[in-house]
Amino acid sequence: MSILFTDGTIITMSPERDIIWDGALYVRDGRIVDVGETEPMVQRWAEEADRRVNADRRVLLPGLVNTHCHSTHLACRGRAEDVSNWDAIWGVMGSIQDAMTPDDAYAASRLAYVEMLKSGTTAVVDSGNHMFRVGEAAEETGIRAFLHCGFRDADTEKIRERGIYEYCQTRGERQLRRAVDLVEKFHGRAAGRIRGLIGPHATDVCSPQLLERARAEADRLGVGTTIHLAQNRFEPEQCIEAWGSGPARTLERAGLLGPDFIGAHAIHLTDEDIEILGRNCCSVAHNPQINAKRADIAPVSDLMDAGVNVALGSDNMFYDLVEVTKVAQLVWRLRAGDPTRPDPQTILKMACINGARALGMEDCIGSLEPGKRADVIMINCDRPRYIPRLPETAVANLVHFGNGADVEMTLVDGRILVDDFRYVGGDERAISDAAQQSGEQVWERARRDWSVRMSRRSDPGEG
Ligand SMILES: [Zn+2]
Repeated sequence: MSILFTDGTIITMSPERDIIWDGALYVRDGRIVDVGETEPMVQRWAEEADRRVNADRRVLLPGLVNTHCHSTHLACRGRAEDVSNWDAIWGVMGSIQDAMTPDDAYAASRLAYVEMLKSGTTAVVDSGNHMFRVGEAAEETGIRAFLHCGFRDADTEKIRERGIYEYCQTRGERQLRRAVDLVEKFHGRAAGRIRGLIGPHATDVCSPQLLERARAEADRLGVGTTIHLAQNRFEPEQCIEAWGSGPARTLERAGLLGPDFIGAHAIHLTDEDIEILGRNCCSVAHNPQINAKRADIAPVSDLMDAGVNVALGSDNMFYDLVEVTKVAQLVWRLRAGDPTRPDPQTILKMACINGARALGMEDCIGSLEPGKRADVIMINCDRPRYIPRLPETAVANLVHFGNGADVEMTLVDGRILVDDFRYVGGDERAISDAAQQSGEQVWERARRDWSVRMSRRSDPGEG
């Protein structure tokens, strides 16, 4: 299958970040073959192309990369956005996740993936409960997915009920085994579209010994690592109390940091943490939308200045990365008190090539260049919000005014998954109905648990 897009604006995100105003893109057998001005491209490729797409008044972009996400948390929507961090993690979201069967996880993640594809995300890092069913959903929907099972050796029931941390090596090993099984089952599936990661949950619930085991298994499997990093105040506090060092130092000692490491959130960091992450050439998955919901802002500017590769993530409940780019710019400017930084190019870079780099895939995805995998999105800019359309404002208009609902086409590995704004990789109606039905049943089961859990956590100052 080959497709020739013509007459569009191509935002290549190549190292020179070329923008081709009257551009064309040729995709064949899952790869980008050629990018350039429309006229010569038509002469070269029009005859052999199976399909020609007129991209007039449209922008072509590399697919967006979501470097931190929990697709099964789609089921938590509307209940976990207005509570404290502690109540969200140990109260509401825990109740819903515990009430989900493998079939519920499958139903939720399938719809989350469809939502991502329809709003321009082509690659996602995902973890949650029942990941073996989530892996099936990723394979079926056609998204590029990096899957991992969270694991820990702390007793989460005791943390949840009494705020007491107790670690048990057998528990950690058992959960790590499941995480390794997931990677062994899925890594490389769907012609390499599905991959695995090793993802210990966080430094407060994982002992240094378990983190070292995580490193050893990731090395053996040849995959990268990821962790929730300083997502809330209680993680670094517990990490220092239990292990005598902050999160970044603890991870560095365990050998976990490096270019194949993604720290998600990276909010409550000290200057020392930031320096350590930069020195080890780490990546951070910045999740501005969920962070802002919890009244938090990550020190993105400081992280970038220290040499950290900062990419974007959506985390729970939110799966539209176009929206995330907008929030990323707003919260950064609010924190810095500077209306000029970051510029729109920096933000778009975070959503594309920085995400690819975080996944060790910058040679394969993240920009529209010949030889790369054809993960491509087409945004329809024939909308009042984008006018006037001008070459010099193409990126700025997307970041300031863009909307995920304007994604008209999405390709992953050259396969068309969204066409004419509709998901065509499967039956979207059936996927949506199944997630609705499953969500109703999950809430019914979880409701009884909420009131119990929330009443246990009434002490002030735990948020
Ligand atoms: Zn998370």
